[in-house]
Amino acid sequence: MSLRTLLQAATATVAAATLACSLAPAATAMPAHDPVPTFGQFQASTFRDSAGQYVVNGDETIVNTKELQGYYDEMVAAYEREVEGGPSAELIVNRVYGRDDLWSFTTARNLTYCVSNSFGSQKTNIVNAMANGAAQWEAASSGVNFTYVPSADSNCRTSNNAVLFSVEPTYTTQYIARAFFPSSPDSQRNVLVNASSLMSSGSWTPGNIMAHELGHALGFRHEHTRPEAGTCFEDNNWRPLTPYDSSSIMHYPQCNGTSSNLSMTATDRAGVRSVYGS
Ligand SMILES: [Zn+2]
Repeated sequence: MSLRTLLQAATATVAAATLACSLAPAATAMPAHDPVPTFGQFQASTFRDSAGQYVVNGDETIVNTKELQGYYDEMVAAYEREVEGGPSAELIVNRVYGRDDLWSFTTARNLTYCVSNSFGSQKTNIVNAMANGAAQWEAASSGVNFTYVPSADSNCRTSNNAVLFSVEPTYTTQYIARAFFPSSPDSQRNVLVNASSLMSSGSWTPGNIMAHELGHALGFRHEHTRPEAGTCFEDNNWRPLTPYDSSSIMHYPQCNGTSSNLSMTATDRAGVRSVYGS
């Protein structure tokens, strides 16, 4: 891993814009001799969405400035470990304080969600895309089951305790959609979707995009943070579940990926089974 890749992680807003536009080439890396950005520079370059959360790595969120500082510190520390020749870890699962970031087996079998009525005329498209995305993970592992709760749609917010998470509209053009991790606090458990972008992302089907987001919601990180990708490094807070898969649904195609349509692979299915059961 090089300084170049660290700086790519720091320019997350550029990467996010790339995803939002979809299928555009990956952001150009800064020259290798550029210095590590200060926290202030990093913060200033990081997109903050309408909910006040920072968006990093394209479509992942950080709750507040204190958490962003922690993320920054870890990113720099990870870079320094790499420079010092420390071990480089090789579908991957998120790690928080050294532990896998996953749901309990009980919760994983009943991941309830609503789809906000605020989607208006696009709501049916979102409901269908969510059903498709959820079904892809459900087909892979009997330990995963998403449950749509339409009765919560009229009050589909993170504060609604009738569901584990909400699916709500966003109108930003910084990303198509973004999700959360199992460790995210209740107040941050939502999937935000730009419906018009979702429905017009070329070979990335709405169902595949939502399956990618639900992959995060299950605890999975971007496959392209692995060193084998050679670009788009994010951080080292994860552990591998499978061999590197350049066509994983969790691998951005524009990060040296080999899939053009963000579809789920057999390796992805093996990965989810390894943590939630077959
Ligand atoms: Zn993602």
